[in-house]
Amino acid sequence: MEATVNDIIKVMDGIAPPNLAEPWDNVGLLVGRSSNTVKKLMVALDVSPEVVEQAVEHKVQMLVTHHPVIFDPIKKMTDRSWQHKLLLDCAENKIAVYSAHTSLDSVLGGVNDVLAEKIGLLHTEVLVPAAGGEAGLGRVGCLHEPMTLQEFSEKIKTVLKLDNIIAGDAGRRVSKVAVCGGAGAEFIDEALAAGADTFVTGDVKYHTAQNAVYSGLNIIDATHQGTELPMINTLADRIALRLTSSGFNAQVLVAKESKILQYL
Ligand SMILES: [Zn+2]
Repeated sequence: MEATVNDIIKVMDGIAPPNLAEPWDNVGLLVGRSSNTVKKLMVALDVSPEVVEQAVEHKVQMLVTHHPVIFDPIKKMTDRSWQHKLLLDCAENKIAVYSAHTSLDSVLGGVNDVLAEKIGLLHTEVLVPAAGGEAGLGRVGCLHEPMTLQEFSEKIKTVLKLDNIIAGDAGRRVSKVAVCGGAGAEFIDEALAAGADTFVTGDVKYHTAQNAVYSGLNIIDATHQGTELPMINTLADRIALRLTSSGFNAQVLVAKESKILQYL
């Protein structure tokens, strides 16, 4: 049977329950009419010009993204801002947008579990547990075998498909690893408290790296985008599976997203 935007909302609310989102976040259906039919939907990390272009080209009726298409309150929507122009493009092309941000970071099986699994962490636990639940931000787990930071960095580059990464070397062998997809550098204390020797995240600032290294924690900046992109294919598979098992015949596409920051 045909799915509606509302059916996709239910699927997504099941995959990433909105009550797991951080209080400051903005998640759920952010653009669109819930009664519209969805024959094709596209999963992406961001609502960016290249993603909206692909959505229009493939005639999808819905985008499911990680980063919220609307975050700060808006007082006007004109083509003078690139972000608002994208909102106009979505509305004019009847493309609904659902964003699952920190809800998808936090949920078991979400961004952080996919990242931990890619890196090969075992016995994974939540790094920053959410109040009253199993979920939470970040994960911490052990490598099958300890290795040097150089060896571990090579592994990160391979599994996350990155040409380069930057790392702060605290002189510790890599055995117990904390991860937080996106911008997780605020959780250095939690990583240390969990007994991690190494922390993998994105958006690491200079003084944050200093704090980590001098506190005895290796820190790897595998980029915000690089640590979150692995989730997108998994999310698309998961949506497709839930749609099929509920008898819906909507097609699920994955956007092609280029790296916004590159080594030149
Ligand atoms: Zn992010």
